Amino acid sequence: MLTLYLTGGCLIWYIFPMFVTHLECCRCGQTYESEQVTNLCRCGSPLLVRYDLEKVKASITKDRLALRKPDLWRYRELLPVKESENIVSLGEGMTPVLHLRRLGAGLGLSNLYMKDEGLLPTGSFKARGAAVGVSRAGELGVEAVAMPTNGNAGGAWSAYCAKAGIKSIIVMPASAPEIHRKECAVAGAQLYLVDGLISDAGGIVARAVAQRGYYDVSTLKEPYRIEGKKTMGLEIAEQFSWQLPDVIVYPTGGGVGIIGIHKALKELQQIGWIGDKLPRLVAVQAEGCAPIVRAWQKKQAESEFWPDAKTVAFGLTVPKALGDFIVLRGLYETEGCGVAVSDEDIIEAVKTLAGEEGLFICPEGAATICAATQLANDGWLKPDETVLLLNTGCGLKYTDTLSVDAPVLKPGDDLPDL
Ligand SMILES: *Cc1c(COP(=O)(O)O)cnc(C)c1O
Ligand SMILES: [Zn+2]
Repeated sequence: MLTLYLTGGCLIWYIFPMFVTHLECCRCGQTYESEQVTNLCRCGSPLLVRYDLEKVKASITKDRLALRKPDLWRYRELLPVKESENIVSLGEGMTPVLHLRRLGAGLGLSNLYMKDEGLLPTGSFKARGAAVGVSRAGELGVEAVAMPTNGNAGGAWSAYCAKAGIKSIIVMPASAPEIHRKECAVAGAQLYLVDGLISDAGGIVARAVAQRGYYDVSTLKEPYRIEGKKTMGLEIAEQFSWQLPDVIVYPTGGGVGIIGIHKALKELQQIGWIGDKLPRLVAVQAEGCAPIVRAWQKKQAESEFWPDAKTVAFGLTVPKALGDFIVLRGLYETEGCGVAVSDEDIIEAVKTLAGEEGLFICPEGAATICAATQLANDGWLKPDETVLLLNTGCGLKYTDTLSVDAPVLKPGDDLPDL
């Protein structure tokens, strides 16, 4: 096993002068060559991209990094795309970290921050995964991809595939917000709706892939999407001047976001850019679909399928995530936790954040505020700790979740007294 690994690593290094060495199964440790199109390990678990981190460390310094363009490709030594000409970009990365002064004061948290991923192309953090995933797929010669989605991933992959000239086949629940159908369709994806959940869409895609040879880019079934999402963790470290927050709170569906952040921070530790202590990772789910939170409460290594999953935070409607055990490992390793929040509180939090901080965020992002509120009340969050919430998408995509009553005037009417 050891020799295989070493030989494999060296061989690949000589052939490809890049920093990726191989792919590695996150369950059984089996290694794979990274220059061919690959999905899961033979044992059925996701593969992670591994790098020669010594070489990365010798090639780039924090000071040189600081001079680069503010997009996610500034971290190219830790990304899997070999040739810059294969990069498919819509200008993704370096989203703002904002101090939530008013909201934080209300919760007794003076160092409460939000990283706003709603400003990315296609309006969600899924753009990061799509940018890197599509770039790498194109580099490996893929011509058609297929994926199940709750919406935002479909929108992002459709857009990046359009730019790359790669065909995209997207299957999403008919109950997903309508905006997602439109963004896929307008970008030229072949769009199918299924009367069921993302797990049902996944079954349809799996059969199509087996029969027609499309590249299956379902969550965690290919290794590169996570590398894109990893850049959230790299950005967080850089934006906090390499002094990490105490806690990172993430709305968790398939889990790629939180797994990616954790992977980023561990890689940064290995190149010696951050210290030993990692932030406590918090996975937030909705009460109507909280398989990972339930597993965490029971101290289990894996989650169980959540029947009748339903929540207004549609991106969190994942009844059983393929990478649940990796998310849970991250929560245990960092002494983090899982928190489930109600739809009512989520809708309220969308309004609070817009009213107090001027940020119109998605319901999934709002779920992190509900979680922070619970954890501050429980004393799990200490008043002076630095807490970073991730808003994963733009509220402008979710106008249907809010209703607004405004008085209607006729021309010539006067405004009533306040
Ligand atoms: C996909 C999605 C999530 C969940 O992200 P995972 O990486 O699958 O856990 C959260 N919020 C929004 C807006 C999403 O689109
Ligand atoms: Zn394996």
